[in-house]
Amino acid sequence: MQPQQLEQTGAQTFTITWRDGLVMEYDLVTLQRECPCAQCRKTRRDIPKDVMISSIETKGRYGLVFSFTSGCTKGVYTYSMLRRLGRAQGK
Ligand SMILES: [Zn+2]
Repeated sequence: MQPQQLEQTGAQTFTITWRDGLVMEYDLVTLQRECPCAQCRKTRRDIPKDVMISSIETKGRYGLVFSFTSGCTKGVYTYSMLRRLGRAQGK
């Protein structure tokens, strides 16, 4: 499953509209906490409540890399992982 559209909805929230029409909501603190990179898996860091994203890049055809303003910029969030972390809207 691939995202069709990514839209920022607030300072720390955004939504992804997936190809199947499902709209899911994300917040940055949760995303940063779930960072899948090796370093974050080893040491859980405290996530500042005002963490922001400076950039989002696509990684191949399978995921996204978020650059957080404080904390990690290396985690590859696969689309299947993002489907798991999001909150489906209207449910
Ligand atoms: Zn990380």
